[in-house]
Amino acid sequence: MNVQTIMTNLEAKHPGEKEYLQAVREVLESVEEVYNQHPEFEKAKIVERLVEPDRVFTFRVVWVDDQGEVRTNLGYRVQYNAALGAYKGGLRFHPAVNVSMLKFLGFEQIFKNALTNLPLGGGKGGADFDPTGKSDGEIMRFCHAFMYELWRNIGADQDSPAGDVGVGGREIGYLYGMYKKLAREHSTGALTGKSYGWGGSLIRPEATGFGAMYYVNRMVKQANDTMEGKKIALSGFGNVAWGAATKAIELGAKVVAISGPDGVCEIPEGITMEMVDYMLEMRASNRNKVQDMADKFPGKAFFTAGKKAWSVKCDIACPCAFQNEMNEDDAKELLANGVQYVAEVSNMGCQPGAIAAVQNAGIPFAPGKAVNAGGVATSGLEICQNAGHISWTAEEVDAKLQKIMNDIYDLCVEYGKEADGSINYVKGANIAGFMRVAKAMLAQGIV
Ligand code: GLU
Repeated sequence: MNVQTIMTNLEAKHPGEKEYLQAVREVLESVEEVYNQHPEFEKAKIVERLVEPDRVFTFRVVWVDDQGEVRTNLGYRVQYNAALGAYKGGLRFHPAVNVSMLKFLGFEQIFKNALTNLPLGGGKGGADFDPTGKSDGEIMRFCHAFMYELWRNIGADQDSPAGDVGVGGREIGYLYGMYKKLAREHSTGALTGKSYGWGGSLIRPEATGFGAMYYVNRMVKQANDTMEGKKIALSGFGNVAWGAATKAIELGAKVVAISGPDGVCEIPEGITMEMVDYMLEMRASNRNKVQDMADKFPGKAFFTAGKKAWSVKCDIACPCAFQNEMNEDDAKELLANGVQYVAEVSNMGCQPGAIAAVQNAGIPFAPGKAVNAGGVATSGLEICQNAGHISWTAEEVDAKLQKIMNDIYDLCVEYGKEADGSINYVKGANIAGFMRVAKAMLAQGIV
């Protein structure tokens, strides 16, 4: 393979699909050397097949708002690759959602899911629906209308969506309610992230954040260091940041910043469990304002409008919100402030310039597809429980999650170790995930 030739062809075929092209380039650059040692991959045109999704569904979603106005949105599901299992990946509700975004997320999902070593293919979906300011009734009507179109294309052995940005436990409940009605069966494996009591798994809500902190803990240990007293800056205040903050406190670290689209909330003494609990109320309100934390905890949390979490001095920086949320200047500011580790929790949270700046400074950088794989891994565990009609305790799920994250960490080290002994986590995660998918595709023939 020649990355430049492949990228030139893709750019011509998919002009303007910036995020998708960026994600593909990163993976191909990481795997090029290893790939070229396998002429059987080249012969079967593994890369040329892998970069295009199996199929993409686009559909109109029509619903009525609280004022009686008819609203039209666009819904999507990208079924990317099923070499390792049924399509699996979240649904994102956000006004910026488009095909390019979902293709990049779906592409990343293939390798992330492969890293978990569970039988999960890669997919992604969502809609350009903005949940900000919407009432509970509006959210329900939108979810029902969305599922009215999607239901025929999902199912436990076909495609199993979950939550992502803008889609949490409440939305999954509404989506599942309509799915069950239309499919005329109680097929719990058709969606994950369900609530506990009707098919959900304990620890699934916490899983992405917990998994991320298990991974970060290993990065820190690798440097003969400990989490005790480490200052962590997180972006966002959604489900992922909530889980990460909970585990960070347990590991003895201090979360000194969370952020939102309105600005940053600095918490010099470290976030408390009371504040972490309040993050759930902030998300449920659909206001999407981190300032609410400062208003609720005056003297402990301090809001600055328009600033990012990366402006706060910290030891560990973890983007937990959206893609491209850390740019090169942000990374430089973090480095000047003495950051020691950067772990991307959001999918493609760091721009290429930010990653290069961190790596060039000799600071460990870990990519989202490895760090945030605990979420989808626990979705895989949810599917296992659904299929076996069993329910594991929180301790059992957490132990399995920890093992999966440790295994992913070890894989990244195995494939990412450089000649000088340093670890390139980006390369490690890309090669480890890619090899699993490529071997499965090869074994299954030209399909
Ligand atoms: N949206 C999450 C992710 O990016 C979870 C996907 C899932 O559980 O299927 O991995």
